[in-house]
Formats: sequence, C-alpha cells, structure tokens
Amino acid sequence: MSLEPEATATRAGASSQPVTGSMLYDLIQCPHRVYADTFSVASERDEVSPFVRMLWERGSNFEAQVMGSRVAGYVDLTSVSRHERERLTREAMDRGEPLIYRGQISADDLLGMPDVLRKEVGGYVPGDIKSGAGEFGGDDEHEPKPKLHYAVQLALYVDILQRLSLAAGRRGFIWDVRGEEVSYDFDKPISERKPRTLWDEYLTAREGARSILSTVTVTRPAYSSTCKLCHWHTRCLSDLEAMDDLSLIPHLGRAKRDAMLDYIPTLAEFASMELHSFITKGRTPFARVGEKSLRTFHTRARLLKSPSPAPFLKESISLPLVSRELFFDIEVDPMREICYLHGIVERLEGDNATERFIGFFTEDESEQEEERAFAEAWAYLTADPNALVYYFSKYERTIYRKLQAKYPSVCTREDVEALFHPEKAIDLYFDVVFPATEWPTRDYSLKTLARYLGFNWRDENPSGAASIEWFDRWVKGRDPADRQRILEYNEDDCRATRVVLDGIRALAA
Ligand code: SF4
Repeated sequence: MSLEPEATATRAGASSQPVTGSMLYDLIQCPHRVYADTFSVASERDEVSPFVRMLWERGSNFEAQVMGSRVAGYVDLTSVSRHERERLTREAMDRGEPLIYRGQISADDLLGMPDVLRKEVGGYVPGDIKSGAGEFGGDDEHEPKPKLHYAVQLALYVDILQRLSLAAGRRGFIWDVRGEEVSYDFDKPISERKPRTLWDEYLTAREGARSILSTVTVTRPAYSSTCKLCHWHTRCLSDLEAMDDLSLIPHLGRAKRDAMLDYIPTLAEFASMELHSFITKGRTPFARVGEKSLRTFHTRARLLKSPSPAPFLKESISLPLVSRELFFDIEVDPMREICYLHGIVERLEGDNATERFIGFFTEDESEQEEERAFAEAWAYLTADPNALVYYFSKYERTIYRKLQAKYPSVCTREDVEALFHPEKAIDLYFDVVFPATEWPTRDYSLKTLARYLGFNWRDENPSGAASIEWFDRWVKGRDPADRQRILEYNEDDCRATRVVLDGIRALAA
C-alpha cells in the first residue's frame, strides 16, 4: 500500500477506527504518530514537505508503471469508490480472479488496502508495490533483511484474509524498484540471532495500535531522526521541550527514555542527580542501559542544562596536519539508486582563503553519467597520494563500495579500501565526534554541529531529503536553478565538515 495523503487523512479524529496497514507502518516508525494522527487537532500539523510529496508522487507513478508494463490481465479497482471497493473485491475473489489491483478487505477491526491480491493454490496472497528496495541491506556489509514497516502492512492483509478463509498462507510479497519480487514469509525467524518471527512482530504492532486507538496506551513523543520528516515535528518538539524530555539527550531515544522515565522524569532532574544509587556492579535498573551509557547520558544532560554550555573532548585525539585537505560529501537518490553528485572542498596548508569547491555532477540520471562522474571524482580524490580526505559518517564509503561493484573499470575493491583507510581518510563522525567529543546539542549531525559553531547554509531548507527533491526536479525540468541549488547545498555540506574539523581542533588546542 502506498502512503498516500488520503490514507492518513481518513483516520483523523475517531478512536473507533479500524487498524489499517498504513497505521501499522507509522507505528513501527513512531507509536506517537498513530496517537497524534488519531487524537490531535489536524490544524496543528506541519505542511507536508516537498520531499514527502515527491515520495507520494513517485510511489503512485511507479505503481502505475508496474501495473501498466509488467502485469497483464487484472481486475483494476482504482477508480471505484471506497464504499464499493470492498464489495467488488470480495466478488472478484469469489470468482477466483488471478490478480486484483487496489482492492479493499476487512474483518473485525482490521481494514486493509493491499496494492495487489494474487490468486495462488489455496487462496490469495497480498502484495505491495514499493518504489524502494524490498529489503534492507544486501550489500557488502549487511545481509538482506525484511523491512519491518513493510512486513506489518502485509501481515495485516494476511490476517484479514485468514479471518475470511481466503488466505493461501502466511506470506506476502513486495514488487520493488529493482523489478524484483521479494517474498515475506511470516513464520520464519527473522534472523539466527532473533528467533521471533515477522508474525510475532505483527501481533505486537497490531496490539500496540489497538491499545492506542482504545486509549489504553497514551503515547508520548520521543525525539529521533524520524521527526525531521514528520508532520507533527513542530508540535512534538514544543511538547518535548515543555516536558523537558529525556529523549532530547543525543542518542538516548524512545526505548531508553521509556525505561528511565519512572525514575528520572525530566532532563533537569537527571542533570542534578547523583548516579550511584542507580549503579550496581556495572548494571543499572534500566533495560539496555549499562553503567557506561548512563554516565554518558548523564554528562550530556548536565551539558544541556549547564548555564554556560561548551563542547569538550573526552579523550585525546590526533588530527594530522597535511598540506592538502579534501572535505568530501556525496548526494544520492536511493530510490533512483544513483549517486548524482560527488562534492569536494579542497583546502591547502590549512588556509581557508585557498578553499575551492569541485563538484562532479551527473548531468542526467543515466548509468553512463553516473559512471563518468564517479570516474572523474575518483581521479580527483586519488591524484595526490598525500592528501587527507575528511567525510562525515560511513555513507560515502558504503556508496563508493557499491559504485565500485557497479563500475569495476573505474577502480578495484582494494582501491576503495585503500582510499578509505584511516591513514588516508578520516570519518569525522564515527572516528572523532562520536567517540571523543560531547556537545550541548540535541544530536551530533553535521547540520547541528556546524550550526552550533556558527556556520550557515546558503539555502533556507538544507537537507539531504531536499537535495533529492531538487534532483528530481532537475531530472524532470532541467532548470539550471535546481542544478545550482544542489551544487551550493553540497558545497556548504563540504564546508560544514571543515568547520566541524576546525571546531574540534580548537577544542584540542
Ligand atoms: S514528530 Fe517525532 S515524536 Fe512526533 S509523531 Fe512525529 S515521529 Fe513521532
């Protein structure tokens, strides 16, 4: 099921609503989103961002493309009113139609709108069409894993089909952006380390949704990266600040906040506490919070509540001085699976006056252009063997490994590992910021830290998500203003990396 605007709008305002697929999808991201969508005043929502609109549009276009080109001979209920859809879906299933597109099914308090229902031996199997990959991972570093937010939607459809005695089995599928059909078997353990099945996860999510709808559970917001694209962002942040919520501590998150809440209700109380009563032989009473983590969070709480907050180093660091520094950042559209810009700000002898930006941009979305830009960026990054590369988080390395596998004529696997060897390239986030520094901020993202240090992006809405949306516009309209906006945003990200490096060097000094 696509997350269309109507899908959320129809749920607002009533606690007697059924549990739906999109509700479970949201619940996996944030239970409070389900609560807020159901019980909060719709006028308090933020505007839907252009990026989210683009995702909706892309999802619809992709679905139409799949159904138009890959599939033949199906019952299409797209233009049927929601009122009639369920009756017509049941009639189509009773006739044994091989494929039903955009049907609607319900049983008891469950309502599902699977993109497709496919007839197989013994009944129907539900499927969704997604304009993204059907699973997580599947690269050099990670085994492919089912996406839980996809799984719970599909499982809800299976649950309904079972209640109607129309299920072919406990399985579903995703038709994904790569043209692959990814199977979801709900009875298999999720992994060797995790004996729970996807069906177990679904049952937990379904009961969680029921509990929220019946107000047995009243959820509380929790600050996380998910909030940035959520339409309750402004409202939740205001509530979190008013509650002085522990999730405003970097990397604490919902689960740990919930575990600590009964003992430590606010940031201010946490900051003023002594910890010894919570620690016994390296353990604490809080699930998944050991002594070390508790002490780290406590330090952060004190920093956030300090009357004169200042970042500091918690261990010594070594940042070599070299004559050529390359601050490197890439832009990727994960749904088109294209790396469309490799940006580098070069600085010589540590002198900001020498800075210059070099951007290797794909002039269209073809693989030839992606390969050309990759090859040119690669040549630039490796031209000076004494240059030191700085980047922020492992994303650049992960994408370069993928690009190498896609375009092996550009460089070898060993070449990529050599480029990202710690003597040649420093991951400023994982190698320096995270292990060695503390900041009086809510998170340790590049945007947050560089802004804290006084850096401003030229764009009024700088974000990786916005960049993807501008690239989408560039692909469709070839407006040079969109291209320029992407380049400037990326250049500012590269400069921000330099600002954070210099800020950390100043702490060390
Ligand atoms: S803003 Fe964050 S906490 Fe609030 S509903 Fe959205 S994701 Fe949940």
